Amino acid sequence: MSAHAIDGKTLAEGLRASFKARVAALAARGRRPGLAVILVGEDPASQVYVRNKVAACEAVGLFSEKIVYPADVEPATVLARIADLNADPKIHGILVQLPLPRHFDEKAVLEAIAPEKDVDGFHAENVGALAQGNPRFIPCTPYGVMKMLEANGVDPAGKEAVVIGRSNIVGKPMALLLINAGATVTVCHSRTRELAAHTRRADILVAAVGKPRFVTAGMVKPGAVVIDVGINRLPPEEGGKLCGDVDFAGVREVASLITPVPGGVGPMTITMLLANTVEAAEREAGR
Ligand code: NDP
Repeated sequence: MSAHAIDGKTLAEGLRASFKARVAALAARGRRPGLAVILVGEDPASQVYVRNKVAACEAVGLFSEKIVYPADVEPATVLARIADLNADPKIHGILVQLPLPRHFDEKAVLEAIAPEKDVDGFHAENVGALAQGNPRFIPCTPYGVMKMLEANGVDPAGKEAVVIGRSNIVGKPMALLLINAGATVTVCHSRTRELAAHTRRADILVAAVGKPRFVTAGMVKPGAVVIDVGINRLPPEEGGKLCGDVDFAGVREVASLITPVPGGVGPMTITMLLANTVEAAEREAGR
C-alpha cells in the first residue's frame, strides 16, 4: 500500500492565511511586525532563500528590510548594523542568512542578535530555553516538521523517533522537540554504526542528511512516518531537479505517511519564520 503524502504546501498556505489577521491587528495598533534579513556575499542559493523570505513577508503584510553586503565586508560593519536593528522598534525579527563567508565568526554574529529578536532560534539563550523545554523561538525547519506531524494527527508521545543528522539548524533542535513531545529519540550521524538497525526501529523517521535518496525502503519500518528534510540538487545528467534525502518512490511503499520534496518540509520553513516574527511582535506589543 502506498503511503499518504503530506502536502506541506497546502498546510503552509493555510497557516500563512491565518497570520494575515494577526498582522492586520498589530498594524492597526501601529505595531506592524518587521523582519530584517541580512545577506553577506553572492551565494546563489542564499540569494534565492532571502528573496523568498522577503516575498513571503510581503504576502502576509509584514514589513521587511533586506540588507546586503559584499562578501569581503568587515564583520564589525555587520555587527554594528545588528546592534542598530536590535534597537530599532520597527524590527521584531533579525535573521542572518547562513553560511557566512569564512572570515566571519558565525557564532559571534548569531550571539550579537538580541535573543528576543532571534526568530531563527539560533542564539545560545534560545537553544538553552528549547533544551529546557521552555522555548522562546523554535528553529524554523524542525518547528515546521512538528506542525506537519500535528496536522496529520501524529502524536510523538511514546513513539520511537530516529533523527538522521545532528546539525544545530535541523538535527539537534528536531531531536529536542521530539523529546519534549514525549518520543524516545535516537540521533544518528556520520559516525553511527549500523544505521539501518536504528532507522528500522523508528515509528517517526526524520532525514536531515544532505544526500540524495539516502534513506531506502529497506531502512524503514513498515507503517512508519517518514519526514524528508533534505533539499539536494541532482546533477544535470539526472535531470538537475530537486530531490530529498529519501528515496520517495521506494519508501512510499513501506511508510504510512511521507513528505515529498519539493512540496513537503520546504514550504513550512519560511512559514514558521513568519510565525516566529508575528509572535515576536505580539510579545513586544503585549509588554
Ligand atoms: P549538515 O550538513 O549540517 O548536517 C548533515 C548531517 O547528516 C550531519 O549531522 C552528518 O553527520 C549527517 N550525515 C552525513 N552523512 C551521513 C551518513 N552517511 N550517515 C549518517 N549521517 C550522516 O546539514 P543540515 O542539517 O543543515 O541540512 C540537512 C539537509 O536538510 C540538507 O539537504 C539541507 O539542504 C536540508 N535543509 C532543508 C531545509 C528545509 O527548509 N527543508 C532547511 C535546512 C536544511 P556529522 O555530524 O557526523 O557530520
